[in-house]
Amino acid sequence: MYNNNADLKTVRVRFAPSPTGSLHLGNTRTAIFNWLFARHTGGEFILRIEDTDKERSTPESVSLILESLRWLGLDWDEGPDVGGDFGPYYQMQRLDKYKKHIDILIKGNMVYPCFCTPERLAEMRHQMQKKKLPPRYDGKCKNLSEEEIEHLTSQGIKHVLRFKVPTTGATEFKDLIHGKISIENSVLDDFVIVKSNTGPTYNFACVVDDIEMKITHVIRGDDHISNTPKQIAIYKPLGLNPPEFAHIPLILGPDKAKLSKRHGAASPLEYKDMGYLPHTLLNFLTLLGWAPGDNREIMSRDEIIQSFSIEKINDRNAVFDSQKLDWMNGVYIRKMPLEKLVDIALEELKKAELIKDTKEVDINKISKIVKLIQERLKKFSEIPQLINYFFDKPVYEEKAVRKFLKKNGVPEMLQELCVVIEKTKAFDIETLESVVRAFIEKKGVKPGDVIHPVRVALTGRAASPPIFDVMDVLGKQTCLERIKKFLK
Ligand code: GLU
Repeated sequence: MYNNNADLKTVRVRFAPSPTGSLHLGNTRTAIFNWLFARHTGGEFILRIEDTDKERSTPESVSLILESLRWLGLDWDEGPDVGGDFGPYYQMQRLDKYKKHIDILIKGNMVYPCFCTPERLAEMRHQMQKKKLPPRYDGKCKNLSEEEIEHLTSQGIKHVLRFKVPTTGATEFKDLIHGKISIENSVLDDFVIVKSNTGPTYNFACVVDDIEMKITHVIRGDDHISNTPKQIAIYKPLGLNPPEFAHIPLILGPDKAKLSKRHGAASPLEYKDMGYLPHTLLNFLTLLGWAPGDNREIMSRDEIIQSFSIEKINDRNAVFDSQKLDWMNGVYIRKMPLEKLVDIALEELKKAELIKDTKEVDINKISKIVKLIQERLKKFSEIPQLINYFFDKPVYEEKAVRKFLKKNGVPEMLQELCVVIEKTKAFDIETLESVVRAFIEKKGVKPGDVIHPVRVALTGRAASPPIFDVMDVLGKQTCLERIKKFLK
């Protein structure tokens, strides 16, 4: 089913980010699919840093990428920090390897120097666009004589090296997701493989590395489909078979445009800061464009690894749904042991300055509070906002105050309730419930007529966890103080 020259035991896949910023969700999912395929087949997952764009690549981006992958638990078998037999794993440390292959291509007459200036190339592209032709190199330097080359070089004119793509026929490959893809060679460009500053270009370095690192399957975004025929063309003169290719469709925003920052899409670490669990993001991104073939959605890491296959990746674009992400995070939060959630809540409360020192808090009280919101929590960053009234004076929602407290008879009713509460000796959930229910019955009113005003007085808002639980945590003193604010 897979590569004819690689059985599944020898699967070697790579994730090859360019460190020109942090990961976005699209390439994070590419990393996940590569990792899953390696783990499913018992193969190797290789991380390679494609830093040939010297101006835009930064060590900070490398750190962000590594940290994101680590947070998601995508461990690599070879690559930065862990090493491996096929390193180095930074392209800029592999220049000697590219040189070796360039020499082979020069000997095979597969490349030629091009002395065209950037101005000439820009003008050429402009003219082609005007004629509605695909912008490609017009071949001016393709047939320069030895003398001409020597003359231009001796004048100190800089040149690049261009690869001679086939001019007739078509390049075909069987994509594992899209099926047969065929591209007319006449639309291909004699692309640059070595820049004028002697650095390799992406299309060339990528092929050399895929060869040297013995990559069996190239799994990457659809946006690289146009590069694939160029890359395949390089394998041929080197006498090698290309690897298998699988191009993953895009992730679109809800408006069906390519997912971007505009949709609030961010890097994995931003999702971490927003309070999503790493497994939520892993599970969610896996299901963007892949499905196990049954209705399962909440899947453990092992289940995903076990079920994963390239064939089940959808050949159509996937749509990002942030509500589903929130739902899924909620599911995983509910599955969390309370102690773990409490630890996270303590950090969030500290960040929000609702508590000062996480060591000096009443952990039983915090546990009780956190338990009250575990059911409806969607992300950790919501924690302070959901429970701040347990730590600080409530911020009163004006509308709730108007609707439930500033009403005829309510202050008088609360006054009577305070008397009842003051007399209550035990202040636990059951006692409170029976005392307040008895009060409601005696007054002959609807439960909401008492409970809603009490809720607003205690929490400042119209919605909260069950009110007797809230009273239990706040304690008698605080409950009375807050209710008394709304007496006449
Ligand atoms: N450096 C390329 C990118 O980040 C990698 C493409 C590939 O996987 O070949 O898009």
